[in-house]
Amino acid sequence: MRSEVWQRYGSINGVGAGLRDRQVRDRWLADGTHVQFAVLANAWKETVRDAMADIAANLEAAKVDVRRAISRRTNDPAERKRMFTALKAHQWADDPFLSRQMRKRWRRGRNRTHDQIVVRADQYSTAVDGRGRLWLAVPGLERRRMVKIPLTTTVTPAGTLRLILRGGRVEVHYQIDAAQMRSSQRPCGEATIGVDKGYTEALTDSDGQPHGEQLGDLLTRESDRLKERNRRRAKLRSIANSAALRGDRAKAHRIKANNLGTTKRDRQAARHRARVRTEIFTAVHEVVDKAATVIAEDLTKRFTGRKQLPKNINRRLAAWTKGVTAEALKSVSERRGSALVHVNAAYTSQTCHRCGAFGRRSGDRFHCTSCGVVWQADVNAAINILHRVGDPDIALHTPHHKVKQILQDRTDRHRTRLPVQDSSPATAGRRAKHPNRSTTSNK
Ligand SMILES: [Zn+2]
Repeated sequence: MRSEVWQRYGSINGVGAGLRDRQVRDRWLADGTHVQFAVLANAWKETVRDAMADIAANLEAAKVDVRRAISRRTNDPAERKRMFTALKAHQWADDPFLSRQMRKRWRRGRNRTHDQIVVRADQYSTAVDGRGRLWLAVPGLERRRMVKIPLTTTVTPAGTLRLILRGGRVEVHYQIDAAQMRSSQRPCGEATIGVDKGYTEALTDSDGQPHGEQLGDLLTRESDRLKERNRRRAKLRSIANSAALRGDRAKAHRIKANNLGTTKRDRQAARHRARVRTEIFTAVHEVVDKAATVIAEDLTKRFTGRKQLPKNINRRLAAWTKGVTAEALKSVSERRGSALVHVNAAYTSQTCHRCGAFGRRSGDRFHCTSCGVVWQADVNAAINILHRVGDPDIALHTPHHKVKQILQDRTDRHRTRLPVQDSSPATAGRRAKHPNRSTTSNK
């Protein structure tokens, strides 16, 4: 049913023209489309609504890119406003520029969701049996015949449920009010702190403190495991294929069913994702314990519009954790009342926070060739990020090459004013405050 909705309405003439799920329901009721699926009315209506919402989200993601394209095309505020409004009101089809942009960035998507249903709050019930086990009853394919599912939790789900069938088990997903969560009651700190995202640790803050130090290990272990597993699966697949070529269909089938299944693989992947999320969320909570304001790079920026994550396992994991870090920063800040300020992070890992000159990074050390100091690279970057918030010249969207020019001009000016460098007491003081971890510890 989801595929049908995507196929019919996942384009310019459907959701792109502002079509609503209610209108689709009316059409289907009128022409009998729903009959072929042989499910109860509530079930198909909820699925239509959910699939239409997926298409709308897909469309909105494309619009982010088009808005950028509009900003690049014209500086005239009236013209910009006209185009933004047309885009918002689904009236971009009449404007040649907008329609070209939308067609370019919003390719017809397809349904990728095959394992879930949505159940409205008034459609299910829960009960506790004699042994204290919690059961969930949801409508099945026949009227008044509920499907009863034992749950592994004692917390009763509430509101709209999303039931996902994964590896022969049912996952029950539902929204909770973040204000009710225990971590939301924890107050935030008072400081203003810059953070840099890393690979070995989830975050390093501008006080020099690392957070989420297990992240690197978790990712390395997962990456090694995946490489080894993929190698083994490829070998098994080739054995199965050559068995099939020889005519030994039974063997080929056995290997495919017993050794190349997805149940265990998916379960392991889910477990790994949960571990990484916990590590990252804990790291962000530690930062917010100290901070009333968190200054960070906008980590969501480079994702929008990208269709697929990179093929290389390491890079794919890094890109994914970046998204989780962005989500954690946003959600924890909202819940605990700290402010999250995004800054332009261009060259923050390549310049010295003390003198502003470009330096060299090798591993986790940063060498400033101008003042001759070695900093812990992530700490240096976090301090630079912290300083960006008050920078009069570098705004959030200042292009990369302009940032470089500004930084270059500053160091040139600095050099002419201060011909003699380093060995000043200020250096020693700062070094004590932001100790170079790579030299003070034997890590
Ligand atoms: Zn320097």
